[in-house]
Amino acid sequence: MNKPILVFKFGGASVKDGDAIINVVRILERYNTHNILLVVSAMGKTTNNLEHTFQAFMERDLDVFTERLTVLNNYHTEIINSLFKPQEAGKLRNELQLIFNQIAEYFNEDITIPRAQLYDGFISFGELISSKILQCKIEMDLGLSKWIDTRTNILTDDLFQKANVQWPNSIKAIRKQCLPALEKHGILVTQGFIAANQDGKTTTLGREGSDYSAAIFAHALESESVTIWKDVPGMLNADPKFFKDTIKLDRISFREAIELSYYGASVIHPKTLKPLQNKKIPLLVKSFTAPDEPGTIIDVDTSNDHMVPSFIFKKNQVLFSITPKDFSFLIEANLSDIFSKLSEAKAEINIMQNSALSFSFLIDHDPMKIASILDILNTNYEVKYNTDLELVTVRHYDKKTNEFVCQNKKILLQQRTRNTARFVLA
Ligand code: ASP
Ligand code: MG
Repeated sequence: MNKPILVFKFGGASVKDGDAIINVVRILERYNTHNILLVVSAMGKTTNNLEHTFQAFMERDLDVFTERLTVLNNYHTEIINSLFKPQEAGKLRNELQLIFNQIAEYFNEDITIPRAQLYDGFISFGELISSKILQCKIEMDLGLSKWIDTRTNILTDDLFQKANVQWPNSIKAIRKQCLPALEKHGILVTQGFIAANQDGKTTTLGREGSDYSAAIFAHALESESVTIWKDVPGMLNADPKFFKDTIKLDRISFREAIELSYYGASVIHPKTLKPLQNKKIPLLVKSFTAPDEPGTIIDVDTSNDHMVPSFIFKKNQVLFSITPKDFSFLIEANLSDIFSKLSEAKAEINIMQNSALSFSFLIDHDPMKIASILDILNTNYEVKYNTDLELVTVRHYDKKTNEFVCQNKKILLQQRTRNTARFVLA
């Protein structure tokens, strides 16, 4: 009998140093009744550091490039030295040496290649390195396991930096490669975030895209579940950065999780949920420091969705209010003009509202965007805007929750539906 399959995703914080990696191995030991496909992010803050190094490459600043590369090399070397004795992991050390040579040589890469494509080629080194180190440690401690290059099975279009998955081809490639390998090796270790186009060029799925990679594998392999291992006990009802007394959500539905991520909750990459929902594959969010705790279960069951109110805060918002210069009413013709102009300005609207004479909308603060909106709308409309605002969304609100979020604040705009209350506050 084949063992059932689990997909695990370990993010940067869960593999940030030697002890963290040993903890991952401890977690895997608990699941030897299953075959596991493990998706890993770059270690710690490596992706950010690679972005800075890439910046130096684009600016043709060899000194800064070399300096940053040395920091990255030292960081990973220290991790390897804490995991393996000097005489161990010779193959891994050689492979990493080759990767670091490739990174160094990247400085001479053809700079006429589009920036997004160069970025994806460069940024992928973080996940390639972390997956190699982790696989080596797992193999050493647990016996079998195999490293898989995800660029041979998650296939995308050419939209570098936020590539779209080509589902039929990816599903076929994942099943063909991973199903037999899981049977043979028990644990497969692969990279989150990165993929490849039809020419085999590296693409990426967008920052923080490793959750999405895990969902793609789970969908293709029809795994029993996906677990995202995090440094929080599960999905919380508010960001602990803004909120003291957060409550863990024990169980919510895919629909609720999609709503929460739409309104800006940042626990799970928004694209992650759809492929799981389609196949009814539960998503577990669990703490890697407390693997016995149940964490949060996200699945098709909607019966608990209303139990705990959730709070989503978006700071640094700008509220625009526009009125036709000729004082005409805001009939459909004006609205369609406004929408096409906003789409031209690439304005991403967080909330909007209209009255007889004015139309209001809220966006994230971005000086360039504000300038282009003013530029595009100024001819026909009187445009005013307010900065430094906050958008608060409360799911499953009541009187108390609303009073709580609005206390001592001025409400500039509010909207309520049956389940959701939203406030723009100054
Ligand atoms: N390492 C990538 C990033 O930091 C992908 C991820 O962590 O999900 O954006
Ligand atoms: Mg990361």
